[in-house]
Amino acid sequence: MAETHPTTTDAPTQPANADILRAFLADQDVECPSCRYNVRGLRTDVCPECNQKLTLRLALAEPRMAGFVAGLVGLSMGLGVHAMLAGWFIVMQFRRFGGGPPLRDFVLLLALALVHAVLVWFWVRNRGRLTRASASARWSLVVACYLVSIGTFVIFVQVARP
Ligand SMILES: [Zn+2]
Repeated sequence: MAETHPTTTDAPTQPANADILRAFLADQDVECPSCRYNVRGLRTDVCPECNQKLTLRLALAEPRMAGFVAGLVGLSMGLGVHAMLAGWFIVMQFRRFGGGPPLRDFVLLLALALVHAVLVWFWVRNRGRLTRASASARWSLVVACYLVSIGTFVIFVQVARP
């Protein structure tokens, strides 16, 4: 194919979206993604039930989501635990029976929560790279996400020990 980007004027050899859609729907039972009406045999590119324009798109048969989601859960675990403990420290400061946890531990919790927040952001931003990586590299990174969360919590427990 000489042209990869769509232009404002369609080449005469390329069928319009409506034609491709009509051919696709000619002998298949397909639901409208909006109203779920069966649009089999539709002659136009507009759903007759909800009156919305339809188009054909390329979709993945099996989206490679497991690694991304698993890693996100692993990193979010660390973010959640450290942020929750930091919140608990704040609550403890408002109680008046003295001898609350030291500020140093609170600052450490905030720092660890921040580290995890940055890692979550980085994980989400690099989702495409993760999907393109080999299965072994992808799952190694997922394991690393959990190790980071567990490791930082162990560090906190060691440092916060009275
Ligand atoms: Zn519809």
